[in-house]
Amino acid sequence: MTIEQLKKDVRNVPDFPKKGIQFKDITTIVANPEELRFMCKQLADVYRQKGITKVVGIESRGFILAPALAMELGAGFVPVRKHGKLPYETIEVSYEKEYGMDTIQIHKDALGPDDVVLIHDDILATGGSMQAAIALVRKLDVKKIYVNCLIELIGLNGREYLQGENVDIDCLMEIEVDE
Ligand code: AMP
Repeated sequence: MTIEQLKKDVRNVPDFPKKGIQFKDITTIVANPEELRFMCKQLADVYRQKGITKVVGIESRGFILAPALAMELGAGFVPVRKHGKLPYETIEVSYEKEYGMDTIQIHKDALGPDDVVLIHDDILATGGSMQAAIALVRKLDVKKIYVNCLIELIGLNGREYLQGENVDIDCLMEIEVDE
């Protein structure tokens, strides 16, 4: 198995969810047992010596791999969810999306000063959602934050957008946004 093979098998769906978007569909690669094992291992390998205690997954497609990554790393899984979905007391961050504002939440006791956190999402596009997730996790005074995604969309400058956040970012595949 290679990264190139994985890249080839990500399904591009034109005009979803609306005209002009080239949607990168990862269901094709997570459905393949060999590819699933390969990507989890590759993503986790970067962090084996980092002492990660919690992997934070961003709703909703960040939930696909974050628990598997947490298991690989001997860490726990923590969900960051859209407004109103978490049952216990939460803290939140609001951020601007293409159309209007969005709010994400985390349980207020989900993380603390002893935690070394890996925030995971499937795709890094403009970086807006990841920046909000970083801000949310920071509010809980964790020890250190790392960020990873399965796919970095080249051409949207998400990595540059997150530069000021001063966190290590690792993505397994780079795919052109219009590819
Ligand atoms: P952004 O905040 O722009 O970095 O967008 C990141 C979020 O939007 C991720 O959670 C992705 O799941 C989703 N996303 C953005 N662009 C795409 C795309 N072209 N294909 C699939 N998902 C996308």
